Amino acid sequence: MNRRRRIYEGKAKILYEGPEPGTLVQHFKDDATAFNARKKEVIDGKGVLNNRICEHIYTHLNEIGIPTHFIRRLNMREQLIREVEIIPLEIVVRNVAAGSLAKRLGLEEGTTLPRSIIEFYYKSDELEDPLVTEEHITAFGWASPQELDDIMALAVRVNDFMAGLFLGVGIRLVDFKMECGRLWENDLMRVVVADEISPDSCRLWDLRTNEKLDKDRFRRDMGGLLEAYQEVARRLGIMPEQDRPVVSGPTLVQS
Ligand code: UDP
Repeated sequence: MNRRRRIYEGKAKILYEGPEPGTLVQHFKDDATAFNARKKEVIDGKGVLNNRICEHIYTHLNEIGIPTHFIRRLNMREQLIREVEIIPLEIVVRNVAAGSLAKRLGLEEGTTLPRSIIEFYYKSDELEDPLVTEEHITAFGWASPQELDDIMALAVRVNDFMAGLFLGVGIRLVDFKMECGRLWENDLMRVVVADEISPDSCRLWDLRTNEKLDKDRFRRDMGGLLEAYQEVARRLGIMPEQDRPVVSGPTLVQS
């Protein structure tokens, strides 16, 4: 039985009170949702893979001096994070036209963009996360101009790191979504990368075949979502033990 205090339950994650003040436990569920949760399914093992992939990315971001809320992974489905005040924006960075951008501007999916583009969406389920500009963000006080500068600098660095990480394993980082939070340390506040980055929040295409290795497999009813996430984990070298494919090799013959 789980006696920890539940702070928040979202579509794919639960946040529990952490072991020390200022910490939380982030639990990855197997629920997959799309189109503002109008499409739902439980995909056994997705949470475990997202937890591992997110750990891999955030550990490296921390190591190269890009601040995140991540402290360490606790178990198969949970990680210890710092409690932050979430800035109500979804920050999308795009390298290749796809999804809503391709639709909105009539671009062919797969067209490389002239340069990376950062977009902001206001986090609101009722409004279905509308696209907003810097003017809206500062006018309505969702983030200050200084915070917005920090967010954009973080977004560019995360994109550069992730594009390189995935390129190294034969995957094109088409786009991704990240969220930021305010981390208070005594009287000082800094903006850090929060929430999760995983194949649920990225578009990842095989460099050679353009095969989709991300949540579009679910959004577009293509099937094979778990296998695709496993492939991402395998290429990153972080395949969880029990999910390792059975390798053919010498077998013990019992007499
Ligand atoms: N994304 C996300 N959560 C959302 C909306 C988008 O993680 O609520 C991610 C999505 O996986 C993709 C990127 O943000 O990697 C850009 O998504 P897009 O705006 O093209 O929206 P979509 O086509 O997914 O509706």
